[in-house]
Amino acid sequence: MADPTTSESATRPAHPPDAAHGLPAHEVVLLLATDPERGLGEAEAAGRLLRFGPNALPATRSAGPLRRLARQLHNPLIYVLLASVLVTAALGELVDSTVILGVVVVNAAVGFVQESRAEAALEGLRSMVRTTASVVREGQVRSLASAELVPGDLVVLEEGAKVPADLRVTRADELRVDESALTGESAPVAKDEVVLPDHVAVADRRNMAYSGTLVTTGSGTGVVVATGAETELGDIHRLVGAAEGLSTPLTRKLAWFSKLLTVAIVALAAATFGVGLLRGQEMAETFTAAVALAVGAIPEGLPAAVTITLAIGVARMARRRAVVRRLPAVETLGSTTVVCSDKTGTLTQNQMTVRAVWTPAGEVLLTGSGYAPDGELCDGAGATLAPAPRSALWWTLLVGVACNDAALAEHDGRWRVVGDPTEGAMLVAGAKAGLGRDRVEALAPREATVPFSSERRWMATLHRDPTAVDPTDQVVAVKGAVEQVVERCTRQLRADGSLGPVDRTLALEAAHALAQQGLRVLATAVRPLTGPERHAPATFDAGAVPDDLVLTGLQAMLDPPRPAAARAVAACLAAGVSVKMVTGDHAATATAVARQVGLLDQSATGPAPVLTGTDLAALDAEELPAAVDSAVVLARVSPEQKLRLVEALQGRGHVVAMTGDGVNDAPALRQADIGVAMGTGGTEVAKDAADMVLLDDDFATIEAAVEEGRGAFDNLTKFIAWTLPTNIGEGLVILVAILLGAALPILPTQILWINMTTAVLLGLMLAFEPREDGIMTRPPRDPEQPLLTGALMARILLVSALLVAGSWWLFQWEQSRGAGLAEARTAALNVFVVVEAVYLFSCRSPTLPAWRLGLFTNRWLLVGVSAQAAGQAAITYLPAMNAVFGTAPLPAGTWLRIAAVAALAGLVIATDKRLRRPTRGP
Ligand code: ADP
Ligand code: MG
Repeated sequence: MADPTTSESATRPAHPPDAAHGLPAHEVVLLLATDPERGLGEAEAAGRLLRFGPNALPATRSAGPLRRLARQLHNPLIYVLLASVLVTAALGELVDSTVILGVVVVNAAVGFVQESRAEAALEGLRSMVRTTASVVREGQVRSLASAELVPGDLVVLEEGAKVPADLRVTRADELRVDESALTGESAPVAKDEVVLPDHVAVADRRNMAYSGTLVTTGSGTGVVVATGAETELGDIHRLVGAAEGLSTPLTRKLAWFSKLLTVAIVALAAATFGVGLLRGQEMAETFTAAVALAVGAIPEGLPAAVTITLAIGVARMARRRAVVRRLPAVETLGSTTVVCSDKTGTLTQNQMTVRAVWTPAGEVLLTGSGYAPDGELCDGAGATLAPAPRSALWWTLLVGVACNDAALAEHDGRWRVVGDPTEGAMLVAGAKAGLGRDRVEALAPREATVPFSSERRWMATLHRDPTAVDPTDQVVAVKGAVEQVVERCTRQLRADGSLGPVDRTLALEAAHALAQQGLRVLATAVRPLTGPERHAPATFDAGAVPDDLVLTGLQAMLDPPRPAAARAVAACLAAGVSVKMVTGDHAATATAVARQVGLLDQSATGPAPVLTGTDLAALDAEELPAAVDSAVVLARVSPEQKLRLVEALQGRGHVVAMTGDGVNDAPALRQADIGVAMGTGGTEVAKDAADMVLLDDDFATIEAAVEEGRGAFDNLTKFIAWTLPTNIGEGLVILVAILLGAALPILPTQILWINMTTAVLLGLMLAFEPREDGIMTRPPRDPEQPLLTGALMARILLVSALLVAGSWWLFQWEQSRGAGLAEARTAALNVFVVVEAVYLFSCRSPTLPAWRLGLFTNRWLLVGVSAQAAGQAAITYLPAMNAVFGTAPLPAGTWLRIAAVAALAGLVIATDKRLRRPTRGP
């Protein structure tokens, strides 16, 4: 190159240009000091990684610790408390004002720690789903973690990929990118390598591909010009900060509920204060009592507890290999009523082995297993055979290898597929017959390709014809779904290799017989192109594939069900969650696999609940929902139809989980209540649209997630059931005393003590409860059902009454036996806490009696209860605490009475539970 500036720049250190869209692609490459063919060397890349930093956005933890602490203080309850600190101080009640201040600090600290833990749990999940990028380094395409990319890297983009950094496009083949993450515009934008004027706005720079956007179709390459925070996405990220909070519909509902309660309770407290004053009670005392009423009654821990419980649910799901991308999904999973699952790879292993090859001349079986190319072809009698060149069998195997983009790789004697397992199986079949990839490439060099698409359901390639006399003659090789391929055939290869008219019925019947054994069947066809029919490779596309193909035969492959699938399907069905298989495969294959995994009854006779894509297309909008609802297998379904399926099921009131892996599945995944993407086999586009990613692609993982979702929701209900009586009880004790004009059985500072310690040490431990045994034998929760059912409300009121009555009674009793006020109050305070602890054990299960749950199944609970007990001992017996809280040491006899009250309360609660327990079947 003559240009002096460019030849010099190759030796200069990489210099990312500011406006790469305004320069020709090759100049950008030169500025970045990258070899346009071989990419960067590993050493150079490592150096740049140090210089530019990893290609990752700064952690979303935008809010620093101080900001988060400030957020804890921004809470109506805290305002009430801070105001009362000032008022009590002004009134000269210094002890009270110090205690209240202490409460503010403890409350903020606890909230702070809890929120940080929940955030850390979610943050950790992000790294579990790793995004990778295809990068050219040292002349080879490598799959690297996106974080390792540096400016100057050459990136290969393909359908379904996420653009890993800001790229200047260097080559584009029908490349279209969804830039909605950046511009909000959801229609995909076409990309090419042209030079643009400098002033063109980001959204119109069609020669750039920006980090975080998604490739919807086509392919291309680009050179990285910016990484990490320097990208356009990084800019937006800085502007928006962490908008995505921890809130879910449920937390928002509860936050709203707590706000409403707060206002009502503060009003009530003010009224109480007024009444107290009117009765001529002392100002300072009445004021602190009113504050205690407010603090005690407001369930300020509720929203935080919800977040924590859900975050624990998320962590538990992650341990079972289901990564939840949005917190609300935990809630929704628990109420899922239908799971629509792919067949291939989710219910089955996606480990394909060709078992049989059918040609009009007969059927041939293949031995061997897995992807190792060891095995033989044999006839029905078991005699080994080799395909005669140019026979139908030979062509069928040859097309399977020629029209194929997969590769086989061996490592330590283990063979695996790089690419599509369906194609891998056909490579193995060819190799077993001496038609390995190398041999076929030498016989019939490939000139052009029409890739497989789920809409068309076939793939075609253009080759030199290995059997032609004229070396420039070509042959089109086609493989794909039986119906689609056979329909395009007008002739077939006879046993002797001559051509005859196609017998479609014969082929379809043969395919059906194979499919009924659960085999996946693909048809192969060819079409010689001679003389003027020969086609220029550059313009060979789907439209160029002739409609009069020659059918050569069928290949039938086995894809065994996943070992855990049948058990997981059974678990879902027992849990009232229906499971539907949604697949692009043939109805007969799908039905056979559905039987194997227990979706369909093995012995059932009569028409199976199977619908095909054609059936779906024929149904109108009114008939569709009912038909889909009763179907179990949905076969030959195209990705667009998946969206209709989800909508139809939702129209029937279902909460739908839907799996998907391809670009075209994204709309259905977004529409579903729970979109589920495949972590191993799925595209980045699908993962982006999903609420949950399965790290192992296994159906059983969905079932596990539903189970954990139910568990998390249960624990939430348990916390609410426990906390509300505590709050109501605390408020009532004070309210009643002030209204009666009696001495307070529990002092305001003591209420603050109870409130602060029990919520954290007792209530929160319910979030760690293990799942209940029968959790997957009951029907899904109705998402419309309110959190507080009538039965729960009744229980809450009962326990509140027990708390008030118990503490009130002992307070009077102790005084009547001659104890001082401080001692009687200490007794009442302890009754309160002990009854709360007893009730805590009851809350561990909504139905089972407390003693039926193993004591050691939730160790956190024991830790919390022990800590609370230590706290109670301290407040009762430590002179310093006695001075601050106005308590006094208790004699042994009082503890006996406390125990008696608690035992009685426990008995009442247990009886109530027993009476309300739904009668269970035998
Ligand atoms: P599924 O994998 O659930 O069967 P797909 O949409 O991937 O759904 O495939 C639909 C049909 O297309 C398959 O049943 C098969 O007949 C055919 N097919 C699948 N993969 C290929 C491929 N690589 N080349 C040609 N045909 C294919
Ligand atoms: Mg597939």
